Amino acid sequence: MYRTHTCGELRKSDVGQPVTLAGWVDSYRDHGGGLFVDLRDRYGKTQVVFSSDSGAEVQQLSRGLRNEDVIQVVGKVDPRPDGTVNPKLVTGEIEIKVEKLTILNKCKTPPFFPSQMDLPGEDLRLKHRYLDLRRQQMQQTMILRSKIIKLMRDFFEEHDFIDVETPILGRSTPEGARDYLVPSRVHHGEFYALPQSPQLYKQILMMAGYDRYVQVARCFRDEDLRADRQPEFTQLDMEMAFCEMDDIIGIIDGLVANVAKEVLDIEISGPLPRMTYDEAMERFGHDAPDLRFGLEIVDATDLAAKAEFRVFKAVADAGNRVRGICAKGAADKYSRRLIDDMTSMVQDDFGAKGLAWFKVEADGTLNSPIAKNFTPELLAEFKERFAAEPGDFILIVADKFEVTCKALYGLRKKLGAELKLYDPEKMHFSWIVEFPMFDYDEEEGRWVAMHHPFTAPRPQDVALLDSDPGKCRALAYDLVINGSEAGGGTIRIHDGATQQKVFGLLGMSEEDAKNRFGFLLDALQYGAPPHGGIALGIDRWVMLFGHLDNIRDCIAFPKTQRAADLMTDAPSEVDRKQLEELAIKVLRLDEVKK
Ligand code: ASP
Repeated sequence: MYRTHTCGELRKSDVGQPVTLAGWVDSYRDHGGGLFVDLRDRYGKTQVVFSSDSGAEVQQLSRGLRNEDVIQVVGKVDPRPDGTVNPKLVTGEIEIKVEKLTILNKCKTPPFFPSQMDLPGEDLRLKHRYLDLRRQQMQQTMILRSKIIKLMRDFFEEHDFIDVETPILGRSTPEGARDYLVPSRVHHGEFYALPQSPQLYKQILMMAGYDRYVQVARCFRDEDLRADRQPEFTQLDMEMAFCEMDDIIGIIDGLVANVAKEVLDIEISGPLPRMTYDEAMERFGHDAPDLRFGLEIVDATDLAAKAEFRVFKAVADAGNRVRGICAKGAADKYSRRLIDDMTSMVQDDFGAKGLAWFKVEADGTLNSPIAKNFTPELLAEFKERFAAEPGDFILIVADKFEVTCKALYGLRKKLGAELKLYDPEKMHFSWIVEFPMFDYDEEEGRWVAMHHPFTAPRPQDVALLDSDPGKCRALAYDLVINGSEAGGGTIRIHDGATQQKVFGLLGMSEEDAKNRFGFLLDALQYGAPPHGGIALGIDRWVMLFGHLDNIRDCIAFPKTQRAADLMTDAPSEVDRKQLEELAIKVLRLDEVKK
């Protein structure tokens, strides 16, 4: 037997017991009279003591111990002498008097120690992930992840959902992101695609009568990575038949309440708040607003139209928007230099033409380089519109609506964090509903699906598919936690004619649609029930419920920003023989371009 107890288990009540422990040397201190080792495993740390009582041989052996050596000790639980109790450790009242030491494995001097206070660079952590995963913080996160997934699985089972696995090797049906492709050895020149999500399989399961499906599903999207994305990620994927939007939102409200209670001991009662997409864009400039704080966007286009100030007037006259936010008491926190930085940010990151600002002086006047372009009456109106008081700081963006949204969303996020407008430990859950069906892709000159092409329009908007697709709203809903999209789903189209029409709007000919989605169009002809579903981003849930800020810290073996696994060194070149079997020839970049 390697151990009788874990390193987090022994208490004062165990004093006198003979025990065997095994684990890693977390640290050691030589106090002349004896060597004190903190022995660590996943459960905690226990102090083990090598002294003259251990016998000369054991003591001698213990002198060679170094951090991260793997050892086994046999000994007796002793109370710690008065004054040496460590209240920070649950095992801090006892120590083990060692009688026997076995070195199970020596550790080379590692590139970093799991117990060191300052974290090494992330590349080093990813390369030696086995060392990084030994860190207590990482172990807690992996345990949290396991707990959240178990809560989800239990919850859905209690609600009659059936767990069904769907294929990893599927058909390429490019509709959203870029596919990861897998060449077929049996069918030369043909490829499987890794699933971007089990979307169509779960819809087919509804058509097959499974009624309630759930899966913890791995999804793959070959996209350039943003900070909080990964090329492979895990979703809690679910689908229900004979359901409306409220049924799905109701189930997920229950799940959120359950996880919030079990993980953070937060009580959530009643349905989570909902806001329409249009309202979210007006008030917060984004479809996943952080509702832990106010700092709402205020529209002043009508006032701008009255101004002599050419920039504002031109924007208002062109039917664009002049909008801003007012940060309470923040005027003296932002110097000219910081305002210049913010101006560059809205220009470079969000394509805005500029940033206008006003500071409210103690006497109530508005101070700004552009103030001279406004009459005192108009300045008073601006001040009133923003409910601004002495000490407040108003930031205004005049541009196309979309640009004002992006820029003000960015500024609101920045100011919210810098001015500490919310408690980072606080959780806010809400729904955004009534998304547009389509976005217009200027580059491609066509509509693209805002969620995916299988999303149903609101019944009252069906006619807009023909007359004004841009105005058509979808039966779509996103779950937002602390300003992050934590899930998203839709009611699906369940009749072939509407599905065909939506494919058409997305620029797919009938022939195209048949080639790519023939199986779906077929299945829709053979008795498809009304259905809908949602997917929740598990990596992101762990990040949010764990109050973490890096998605890679929520995944045991994540990829870097450049989609590489630094530990195994994937992706990698493969043997020529493997390529021959697949009838694949790798070209150099200049040969591809030919
Ligand atoms: N398949 C969708 C996604 O991955 C979720 C859904 O509509 O259920 O975003």
